[in-house]
Amino acid sequence: MNCLICKRPFYKKRSFLDLFKEEKGYICDLCYKRYPIKITNEFFRLENYNCLVVSIFEYEYKINYNYFIEEYQKIYKRLANLNGSDVLFFDSVDLTNDLELLNIYANLLGNNIIILTFNLRK
Ligand SMILES: [Zn+2]
Repeated sequence: MNCLICKRPFYKKRSFLDLFKEEKGYICDLCYKRYPIKITNEFFRLENYNCLVVSIFEYEYKINYNYFIEEYQKIYKRLANLNGSDVLFFDSVDLTNDLELLNIYANLLGNNIIILTFNLRK
């Protein structure tokens, strides 16, 4: 198969046990190294509720982040099961501009919120 990001052909190593298991990853090891997933948490207090911003990448890359949907889903499922907070997804969060927006979301939902994002700009 070809890597969705760099388009180079690559092969996934398989063992006897997962030989017939369907693989969903379509990104080569080199691209995983080039665009490493580094999950960071930023916690802050809004007007009436708490907000946790979980970002997946440390830097902003010029790639289609949808290729990381598998990883995103795993993180989302983990967060959704975490506690009673509402989990929202934003492509990117800019703390200097989006704080008021996050405040409005939390007040609308009447709950603490967890924002899952690819990039957090500070
Ligand atoms: Zn690649």
